[in-house]
Amino acid sequence: MTEPELATPFRERAERALGDRFLQEALTIATTKFIDLRKESFAGFPAGEALRDRARAIKEATLQHLDVHLERLADNVERLGGTVHWAATGEEAREIVLRLARDRGVRMAVKSKSMATEEIDLNEALEHAGITPVETDLGEYIIQLAHEKPSHIIVPAIHKTRTQISDLFEEKLREGRPNEVAEITAMARKRLRNEFLSAGMGITGANFLIAESGTVVLVENEGNIRLSTQVPKIHVAVVGIEKVIPRFGDLSVFLRLLPRSGTGQKQTAYVSFLNGPRQLESGFEFHLVLMDNGRTRILADEQMRESLYCIRCGACLNVCPVYQKIGGQAYGWIYPGPIGAVISPQLQGLGQSGDLPFASSLCGACRTACPVDINLPDLLLALRAKAKESGAGRKLSESVAMRAVAFAAKRPRLFAFGGKVMRGFARLISTDKKIKSVPFPPLSGWTRYRDLPAPQSSSFRARWKKDRHE
Ligand code: SF4
Repeated sequence: MTEPELATPFRERAERALGDRFLQEALTIATTKFIDLRKESFAGFPAGEALRDRARAIKEATLQHLDVHLERLADNVERLGGTVHWAATGEEAREIVLRLARDRGVRMAVKSKSMATEEIDLNEALEHAGITPVETDLGEYIIQLAHEKPSHIIVPAIHKTRTQISDLFEEKLREGRPNEVAEITAMARKRLRNEFLSAGMGITGANFLIAESGTVVLVENEGNIRLSTQVPKIHVAVVGIEKVIPRFGDLSVFLRLLPRSGTGQKQTAYVSFLNGPRQLESGFEFHLVLMDNGRTRILADEQMRESLYCIRCGACLNVCPVYQKIGGQAYGWIYPGPIGAVISPQLQGLGQSGDLPFASSLCGACRTACPVDINLPDLLLALRAKAKESGAGRKLSESVAMRAVAFAAKRPRLFAFGGKVMRGFARLISTDKKIKSVPFPPLSGWTRYRDLPAPQSSSFRARWKKDRHE
């Protein structure tokens, strides 16, 4: 999906994604692989469950005193020779980066590992100011060449097949057609080496910020971070304020959970610890932009606060049956999947993304996979209630259907009769215990893309009664 297409309503984007054969193929391969790798990795890691509780407890305690930890972090970053900037909004964060670049005559900036800069459309702002941003993570580089937005938190080009990437490189880079994965990476690497050497600024995000030492921690598998942060004279990290953790000791908890949950690795290939500007030579600068952009609003809401525990591992996306079918771009912003359906309406407002909390089966797979045990289904339900109150995200037909169900559920005889009629009808239109097509809406929407299991011949209540008497 291109950027203009992202402006269409969620239902249209989802319909389009469901009809995209290449997308379906790419998503099935990638999400199945990540689910298997994650399962394998945790199977041999009995400490995982206890660490998960510990991770959640650290996040909970940190957010209760976020101001204190942020002040401590800022003091330590400045003690190490860095500069801290506070940005209340995305616009302020953009302005800070643009000012730093303009004042130093930067013409080109290399970027790596930053959802926060995607959140504030920094690339567009840089381009507008005559500064060329170059993404250096392979997935982001592919997305930038295709003029698209990322479709996964840790695998931005998950929606593209190898053939599509080969086509893209052939067309945009004009250096022949790379067919194998090794050829694709070699071509990108060759291009990017020159960019690292000529960039005036390196821009990154951060996975964690350690308050007690002022350390910026970045985890990755490609090795670009060290080039993006150590080669250009100025390094700017744009980071959401919720990324702070109090102590180095806390980090080991997250470093054991994050890669296992995201990619099934015991450890990522690179973990970079950045303490202030590069020290080997003079003239290097480090700037940390601490961005709020709606986070303190979430923090103030006790019910929704746990949305900020997220460590952006991507596990909830991989296991989500909705994400598996529509991919990330259908969510319309940079945070897809269950966490996107929770975060986007809070950061963007229900008016813009009030549909997203309804894009869930509430099966609970996301919570089970989450390494910080965020109760995503409950958060989605809370947002549905808020959307309903505000009139966003719910169709009239759905409201009427829900009222009808509520009316019947309060009248046992009517409920039993309705169930009988529905089971009889379902038997009429099913074959091999499956309903392949319901002839009328809204249920026809369900069977357009998958089969519906046919209900059993007796009701749940009848079977329950029978089981209890046996
Ligand atoms: S909500 Fe949990 S599973 Fe999803 S990305 Fe965040 S930390 Fe990972």
